[in-house]
Amino acid sequence: MSRLVHESKPLQNNDNLQNNQSPFRSRADLPSWLDKQDLSETDLPYIHSLLSISFKDWQEDVEGFPWVSGTIVLLHPDGTSIAMQHNDEGQVHPFAWRADTLGATAANTALETCRPALMRAEEHTSPALKAFDSLAVPVFTRTTGIPCALLACLLPAGTAEAGDLKLLQAASLHFRGCMYRRFENMFVGGLLRDQKMNEREERRREILFEVIRRLNAHIDVENVLSEVLDSLEQMYPICKADLFLSQDYSSQNKKVQPLAFHLNDMDLCKLAFVDGQIREDLSGGRHQVALPLSGKQGVYGVLRLNLPENQFDEADIRFLNMLAAAAGASFEKAKLHEQANIMIGELRLINEITQRLNRSLKLSDTMQFASAELLKIFKADYSLILQYNVKLGRFVVLSSNVPALHGQTYTTDSGFSGVLWTTKEPIILSDYDSATPVRSQLMDLTHSRSLLASPMLLNGDLIGCVLLTKREANHFSYDNYKLLHVLSAHLGLAMSNASLHAEVRRMVITDNLTGLFARHHLNERIGRKQMRDNLGSLIVVDIDHFKQINDTHGHQVGDDILTQVSNIIRTSIRDTDIAARWGGEELAIYLPLLGLEQTQSIAERIRQRVQEETNPSVTVSCGISAWRSSDEKVSVESLFYKADMALYEAKHQGRNRIVTG
Ligand code: GH3
Ligand code: MG
Ligand code: MG
Repeated sequence: MSRLVHESKPLQNNDNLQNNQSPFRSRADLPSWLDKQDLSETDLPYIHSLLSISFKDWQEDVEGFPWVSGTIVLLHPDGTSIAMQHNDEGQVHPFAWRADTLGATAANTALETCRPALMRAEEHTSPALKAFDSLAVPVFTRTTGIPCALLACLLPAGTAEAGDLKLLQAASLHFRGCMYRRFENMFVGGLLRDQKMNEREERRREILFEVIRRLNAHIDVENVLSEVLDSLEQMYPICKADLFLSQDYSSQNKKVQPLAFHLNDMDLCKLAFVDGQIREDLSGGRHQVALPLSGKQGVYGVLRLNLPENQFDEADIRFLNMLAAAAGASFEKAKLHEQANIMIGELRLINEITQRLNRSLKLSDTMQFASAELLKIFKADYSLILQYNVKLGRFVVLSSNVPALHGQTYTTDSGFSGVLWTTKEPIILSDYDSATPVRSQLMDLTHSRSLLASPMLLNGDLIGCVLLTKREANHFSYDNYKLLHVLSAHLGLAMSNASLHAEVRRMVITDNLTGLFARHHLNERIGRKQMRDNLGSLIVVDIDHFKQINDTHGHQVGDDILTQVSNIIRTSIRDTDIAARWGGEELAIYLPLLGLEQTQSIAERIRQRVQEETNPSVTVSCGISAWRSSDEKVSVESLFYKADMALYEAKHQGRNRIVTG
């Protein structure tokens, strides 16, 4: 019947409906407005059910028609019978077949002439009708006057009178009344249904518009998600909405969960996610809809709705699709924005850290700074920076906020540094207590459960490791993992720069042959000591007749003797004393805060050891000088001058002796 309503011209031209307003402006409008609504020629093929139900209404209204022995049939203008009222004997009326197959009858005459007709039994051509008189009256539409039905009646032959035709005419008017009552009901019902649908559609559009407007106003993902779920609940209060996201995203919103494909009830979501199309499931009396949240770069998740059957129509699905598309686009925008922000933050951080790392070339300072920064950036509890020491073939602790680890060294096959040594790949461990590939002193000592570790590589070689831990499990994210990986590359570079710098500096202040300090370094150190300390002493050591050694055994042996004497000196003094090659075969030792007496005994020990331990055996002469802050003149030069003078005296006295200046 909806087709009937939609196709009737007066309805389409009705301004009220086009404005989506109620067609009934006031009660008084109703009858006159409705009176003008009518069936048109184009409606006729679709009115069978209207006629049939109206006939039933009419039968109930009349409660038995006067012709107890007759039969009334309702025919469509195309000649087919729609409904009939049996006579008492329950005979099937011949008109129950198509009227136009019966030859001459009142029905056919009435259809042709559009007038009431009465036909006597003998005029009928069909043998089936020979026992009846037939009567027929067309039913016309109320405004256009088109015949829209035919009431026909058969009476026993010879009994039909003109009065019967009048009765049938009255009956047809009555039937028409019933038919229009039905028509108006259907028409108004249709209108109301349409209006209700329009109102819902309008509401949906309003919500969609509002959601899109608000979605566009948000740039953080959390708000976008809440927005989508809220609007769905607003639109469908009986509906259960869940949002499943594919990426590792933790939301405050309980309804936002990760997409767990391994769960059985996730099949629908999985399908929607994989092909980016809406998926529906109507089994078990529930209606499940899975809507993919897609952006230009992919599908971000699935919105799943679960509600009782028959709650969604096509328009709802269209609405949900639009909502999901808008949410997907906003989600993508928010995600990209978030990622851009993270990247900007990371770049800023990397830039800042690299600058600060390169500000100091002192390895320990640099690594201490790095350690503190990493703890802050990753909100970690403990840090450990290790350097691989090539000479030792082990990792040494460069920096850590765990005092127990200071000075520790580790082999390359133990702990997480051992894993990094082998794989050269960063490690993220969510719970050391539940699963760990290796035991770790760092984790055990600090009772940590989360770990993030990254190798420091230089030209593909592992030069160190950074390890960060947290007491709580599942602390570090994949983003943390990626960031530490990037930062550790910079740390590695800084570590290598600082190490290289330290090495160059060591080379500059060290004498190549003897391994003792170079003269300029000794001079600088004495100068600094003289500014800070109150006293100190100097021993100048000169090998006796060294020229002869060279001449007798060659320069190679001469060099070796020089090294032997240097080693004797190194092992005869304190860590705080500074031994240097003063030049040629002359060596010098500065002894901070040491008086003459003790200096003399150290010089004596050296003299004796050289005589006893060198091979070929040589002797040394020593000149000693000392300074005090109370001296008239304190300088490096005068200290050396005095020692040199004493040495000269020692040579003069016959060598292999000590003279104090
Ligand atoms: P004296 O007992 O008076 O100190 O006699 P000397 O021969 O040790 O003193 P002299 O100053 O005449 O000679 C020092 C020699 O030391 C000259 C030089 O060939 C040698 N010499 C200086 N530096 C080196 C060095 O690095 N290696 C070797 N093999 N010889 C050196
Ligand atoms: Mg000399
Ligand atoms: Mg000499």
